[in-house]
Amino acid sequence: MASRIRSLVCRECGTEIDVAATHVCDLCFGPLDVRYDYREVARRISREAIDRGPQSIWRYRDLLPVDLDASDDEGPVTLGEGFTPLVHAPQLGEELGLRNLYIKNDTMNPTNSFKDRVVSVATSWARRNGFDTIACASTGNLANAVAAYAARAGMPGYVFIPANLEAGKIAPTAVFKPTMVRIDGNYDDVNRLCSELADLVDWAFCNINIRPFYSEGSKTLTYETAEQLGWRLPDEIIIPIASGCQFVKHNKAARELIDLGLVSGDGARMPRLSGAQALGCSPVATAFQQGETHIVPVKPDTIAKSIAIGNPSDGSYVVQIARATGGVVDSVTEEEILEGIELLARTEGIFTETAGGVTVGVLAKLARSGRWRGDETVVAYVTGHGLKTAEVMTGRSTLADPIPPTVRAFHERFSQAVEERGPAITPVRGVTGGRRR
Ligand SMILES: *Cc1c(COP(=O)(O)O)cnc(C)c1O
Ligand SMILES: [Zn+2]
Repeated sequence: MASRIRSLVCRECGTEIDVAATHVCDLCFGPLDVRYDYREVARRISREAIDRGPQSIWRYRDLLPVDLDASDDEGPVTLGEGFTPLVHAPQLGEELGLRNLYIKNDTMNPTNSFKDRVVSVATSWARRNGFDTIACASTGNLANAVAAYAARAGMPGYVFIPANLEAGKIAPTAVFKPTMVRIDGNYDDVNRLCSELADLVDWAFCNINIRPFYSEGSKTLTYETAEQLGWRLPDEIIIPIASGCQFVKHNKAARELIDLGLVSGDGARMPRLSGAQALGCSPVATAFQQGETHIVPVKPDTIAKSIAIGNPSDGSYVVQIARATGGVVDSVTEEEILEGIELLARTEGIFTETAGGVTVGVLAKLARSGRWRGDETVVAYVTGHGLKTAEVMTGRSTLADPIPPTVRAFHERFSQAVEERGPAITPVRGVTGGRRR
């Protein structure tokens, strides 16, 4: 059988090289992407074949860079990542004037963030290609996923994190017993150190030497969105930006779905791809707004730590793709991030971390600025769970003092609130404050 996975190709100069654990072009230092033989992919893939696949990212295996065909294959390293709910959001939509608004709820992944998609692909690729150690530079969620998938694969895991990471992200990573390397510095320092180490040790660093394979896992978010919309691409997608890696891959995923004929009718058009950043770390939004492509690095200062990358490697590609598809890149303040978290929770019952607050915050800001007529299909990618950054909500809701455990006390305190909210409690005889006819 011919191989589906053809080569690595430089995004800048187009040079093609054999598949290997490397991520930059030798000639121009451009980033490398996996290139498939799409005739071979087309021969295998169909809506029906996908439908028969597992309820995970691996239903799209024909568009992922891991060769699972060999008879001795032990299969992918999986915890059931992906195929997360695409939730119609009528109440949030009502507040924002959007009738066809959807939340792609990626908080529902095994370690509660979108990173499980990329790490499942990275770990599977590393195991098949002879690596025995898996590592990463992380702002938190990636460390969490690498720790879990290393455990699942039975491989040692090394996670490099900034020392000031949220407590909510430490314990759920430490429990998998990886080697945790805390660095005195921010994420950009951690990333620089790992780039140096990647040249010295024979490890698979998910987001460094094996980044071309790792990043392909992001595409599944867009494949799923199209499949769950009935094999249609939406009109616009709002995507949080850290390095910009997943944003670029959603562009590739949409193109693939169109070119392979998997989407049809109105749903076979390129969606507008729009990006969301926190104002405290918004180098991509700044470049977009100034009409630049070059990204000027910043020092991050925001509660949205999981997407606080001051020197985003794919930033300039994000700007180009946003422009080419008719999207925008915008940012929100710290207060707007918190309001975004509360807005999504109050209207649709979904609790997201600060990165999701950024996405919903930008969605709300764009909606209120009159960006949409109201009938467009808009999807917001909500990529991490609220329990990961729960401490930012401390003090946002005031708790009433406790009451004694008696019906009387409950009535005294709450009967007015209950009446205001409509249908009153059934009158209770002999209880002060009960309703009488
Ligand atoms: C990593 C991450 C992203 C996106 O990261 P990119 O580097 O831009 O691909 C978005 N949301 C969350 C919660 C993340 O952890
Ligand atoms: Zn090149």
